[in-house]
Amino acid sequence: MHNKCVLVTGGAGYIGSHVNKMLNRQGYETIIFDNLIYGHREAVKWGKLIVGDLSDIKQLKEVFDKYEFGAVVHLAAYAYVGESVKNPEKYYYNNVSNTLNLLHVMLEHKVNKIVFSSTCATYGEPDTVPITEKMPQNPINPYGASKLMVERIFKDYSLAYGLKFVVLRYFNAAGADSEGEIGESHDPETHLIPLVLDAAGGQREDVKIFGSDYETVDGSCVRDYIHVEDLANAHLLALDYLNNGKEPDYFNLGNETGTSVLEVVESARKVTGRDIKATISGRREGDPAILVGSSKKAREVLGWKPKYEDIDTIITHAWRWHENKLY
Ligand code: UDP
Repeated sequence: MHNKCVLVTGGAGYIGSHVNKMLNRQGYETIIFDNLIYGHREAVKWGKLIVGDLSDIKQLKEVFDKYEFGAVVHLAAYAYVGESVKNPEKYYYNNVSNTLNLLHVMLEHKVNKIVFSSTCATYGEPDTVPITEKMPQNPINPYGASKLMVERIFKDYSLAYGLKFVVLRYFNAAGADSEGEIGESHDPETHLIPLVLDAAGGQREDVKIFGSDYETVDGSCVRDYIHVEDLANAHLLALDYLNNGKEPDYFNLGNETGTSVLEVVESARKVTGRDIKATISGRREGDPAILVGSSKKAREVLGWKPKYEDIDTIITHAWRWHENKLY
């Protein structure tokens, strides 16, 4: 029997809170470690919240002394692409150096299983899509680079110290809890779908389209939007995978469907029935033109199967949350 207590770093954040809910629903006990800089106390409706920062190794040790963890799900990170270009130091310290702290304390306490939230941003500008796990990783922004560094560290720690990891490379997390209990809320908000919904709800005059001259269907960037609940579910499958004694591995998580920024706006117009003003503006630094992932490996090896694949359903759930936001 495996220890069912799981440490969820970043569990008060958008993706982390959905992972936390699902873990609890599946009978896991969770401890959420979050500095609440971007996370929300209100999003932690399950498990126990410990407010802390991974830079504080002393506090981390106390947490590991107190609880006996079977595994760690590590989502705590900064994740703004644009900001990472302007302030890389912030990203390398928080995403890389703090992960080293976490790994240090884990290994010291003989906890060797970790599920890590990585990103499609590690691939940079792919030569072809859909992107498979074997394709070259050449990130074009510090955010992606910081996640790739952690992936590399895992590989070395696995060989040297027996770390067992699953790296999940997320494409664009979107939507909200289908039961409406939690959802996406960032401050400042920089993500496309919540901004589009702000424009639909009248909290914002328009949504800016970052670039209309990319080599894509309509000139705007193409991304692979994946429902946050489907994403969360993959973490549980990854834990099962590790608990079954399987070897470290890497998995993409996307829907294998590219949706352009303009198509997102169009879908939101349809779902909300509102007029949404879109204004063409310049490209955002660090943005690749197209990111679409192949999730074949996750489907085959983890048995992952997304429930909510189409963009209209994803935006419907996001809109339901947006209209009745609890935080
Ligand atoms: N985007 C946009 N206008 C905005 C915010 C985002 O056109 O106000 C675009 C952005 O350039 C990217 C896509 O929407 O191509 C998704 O961006 P987001 O920040 O949501 O996620 P990311 O791809 O950075 O993880």
